[in-house]
Amino acid sequence: MFFIALVKAEGRSVLIEVREAMDLKDHRMKLNDGHFIPILGFGTAAPEEVPKSKAEEYVRLAIDAGFYHIDSAYVYGSEEEVGRAIRSKFADGTVNRSDIFYTSKLWSTFLRPELVRPALERSLKKLQMDYVDLYIIHFPFAMKTGEELFPVDEDGKYILDTVDLCAIWEALEKCKDAGLTKSIGVSNFNHKQLEKILKKPGLKYKPVCNQVECHPYLNQRKLLDYCKSKDIVLVAYCALGSHRYEKWVDQNSPVLLDDPVLRDIAKKHKRTPALIALRYQIQRGVVVLAKSFNEKRIKENMQVFEFQLTSEDMKVLDGLNRNVRYIVAKFAIDHPEYPFSEEY
Ligand code: NAP
Repeated sequence: MFFIALVKAEGRSVLIEVREAMDLKDHRMKLNDGHFIPILGFGTAAPEEVPKSKAEEYVRLAIDAGFYHIDSAYVYGSEEEVGRAIRSKFADGTVNRSDIFYTSKLWSTFLRPELVRPALERSLKKLQMDYVDLYIIHFPFAMKTGEELFPVDEDGKYILDTVDLCAIWEALEKCKDAGLTKSIGVSNFNHKQLEKILKKPGLKYKPVCNQVECHPYLNQRKLLDYCKSKDIVLVAYCALGSHRYEKWVDQNSPVLLDDPVLRDIAKKHKRTPALIALRYQIQRGVVVLAKSFNEKRIKENMQVFEFQLTSEDMKVLDGLNRNVRYIVAKFAIDHPEYPFSEEY
């Protein structure tokens, strides 16, 4: 009912929201290659000082709580532990492989066509899995290849490298054809970089998703509209206002979950600001990630499917946009493929 009312009020763009609302029934969205992605995902990134065993412990709890979409990356350094946690949930009968949607990411030091498949195979070996559900290019900029994940020069500056995104994409397409990943996509791409892939001569598969920072302070309206027009799913990270790790996030940036407007809406719905921030994404057709290494909050985040925001709430939340980007990756600002200088 709520979504039908929206159609009458807002016309064509909302027809898309109706389709997505119907997919909400089983909490997943169809990708442009025919596979399905669960709308709510569990984030696993944690600062270096957090023991990797925590990732294992909390992925187990997340699956027990009902998170079937697990977001990870080679660079997080915990794929072995995350893989062990997932497999333990197969072993105890909680889920089977086809229930789980696992995402891994191709790190910036492997952005050479010949390094793509070995990088994915390295993740699979750590995970002890035959395939991942989604493999995405982590960032469009490259760093010097080698064993160092953050290669630095003698002045401590990260060493960047050239990249041919279309050639990398072709290598990803081969990984899909080889059955090492069900779907392929990108992360942190602006619309021009997406366009570059979409217009590539001989394109075999479109990216299924673009995983980007997205929350009420950076709602990515233009990028979201662009992605929807190309049938590319936008996946939101830092949806709760980010982990705020000093290494990556400016400590002077505003704390999203303290926002008074978000808090008021939360009070009205007798939910937490975190749940409002997660629900906001779902109702605008965005797949949303939530990281928590806390059992109570993991269970709380699953309540996102138990309530609805009104169209008025959605408008008010849209009004919070202020282009606050938590993950700036400033070290790559001089790279020709640095994605965040474009408006969207
Ligand atoms: P996030 O999901 O925005 O928020 C995480 C923070 O919110 C954590 O500090 C967590 O603390 C807290 N939190 C979780 N649930 C809460 C609740 N119900 N109430 C209050 N606080 C709550 O953080 P993120 O880790 O930046 O992003 C999520 C995931 O996206 C990552 O883990 C990673 O998988 C992915 N990611 C991808 C990229 C990329 O470049 N593609 C970049 C960043 C992140 P506790 O753990 O203490 O609960």
